[in-house]
Amino acid sequence: MSATLINGKTLAANIAHTLRETIKKTPGHPTLCAIQVGEDPASQVYLRAKAKASEKVGIQFCRVSLKADVDLSEILFQIQELNKDPKVHGIIVQLPLPDPAMVPAVIQAIAPEKDVDGLHPLNQGRLFSGDYSGMIPCTPLGCLELIQSVEPHLSGKHAVVVGRSVLVGRPMTQLLLAQDCTVTHCHGKTVDLAAHTRQADILVSAVGKQGLITADMVKPGATVIDVGITRGETQVIGDVHPDVVQVAKALTPVPGGVGPMTVIGLMENTVRAWQVQTRA
Ligand code: NAP
Repeated sequence: MSATLINGKTLAANIAHTLRETIKKTPGHPTLCAIQVGEDPASQVYLRAKAKASEKVGIQFCRVSLKADVDLSEILFQIQELNKDPKVHGIIVQLPLPDPAMVPAVIQAIAPEKDVDGLHPLNQGRLFSGDYSGMIPCTPLGCLELIQSVEPHLSGKHAVVVGRSVLVGRPMTQLLLAQDCTVTHCHGKTVDLAAHTRQADILVSAVGKQGLITADMVKPGATVIDVGITRGETQVIGDVHPDVVQVAKALTPVPGGVGPMTVIGLMENTVRAWQVQTRA
């Protein structure tokens, strides 16, 4: 058995097409604004990808660049300005920040309806209380779309999520619960990880440890979503060992799986924010 590779690039391109058509049909256009603090090289790459995707879809992308040693008050001032601006529909603050202690205050300053990364406590709280009308974090949103592209009927399936970050693991569990999956949530303190992952019809690994998920940890016929990224010298490598392709039914490649779907998730959230704010 050799797994079907779920092509995130193709799926993202299809969603981009639909978004572009939606925007074209309505007067005006969505605007997404990114705040960047400092010049972290990985952040520059991610922002370029977001700018390029925005252009393809028809979203206007703007950037506020601040120095690495900027005061928290200046970041909050910039966010307030963008919150007030009716021409800006989505705001993201590119993480990580040079000072990680600033992150909670910065995220909480973003108007929830413009929080297109879905990280504001109000949006997180909505998701965790079973209200899916708020902004959903982009990576789990993209992962769910990847899963649904090969598993349209998720009700009753056993899903195992590995990793419990606020950005990926926790919202992923909520989205799978919303699809009526039975969800097991694993993390760094889980005893006998393999015993859990072997039960999974749907396995999502969001850890960042190269080769963590080996073939013997995967149930034959499972759908496996590899969120993890480890940067090698010349390439990025996922959490899932290459041998898993012999066991799984479907698997996301790294790169070309979750990455493009994370970016398109941001585009989907921005278009939704624009529609809600302008009743487009
Ligand atoms: P994170 O905040 O570092 O969380 C990692 C999680 O993995 C933690 O919950 C940790 O458990 C758990 N963990 C660590 N070692 C483990 C082990 N041996 N067994 C089981 N769980 C273990 O990272 P994140 O932000 O969620 O991101 C996860 C990975 O996805 C990273 O590699 C990141 O680069 C990647 N990512 C990719 C995309 C994309 O677009 N492709 C987007 C976002 C993130 P504890 O809580 O117990 O410490």
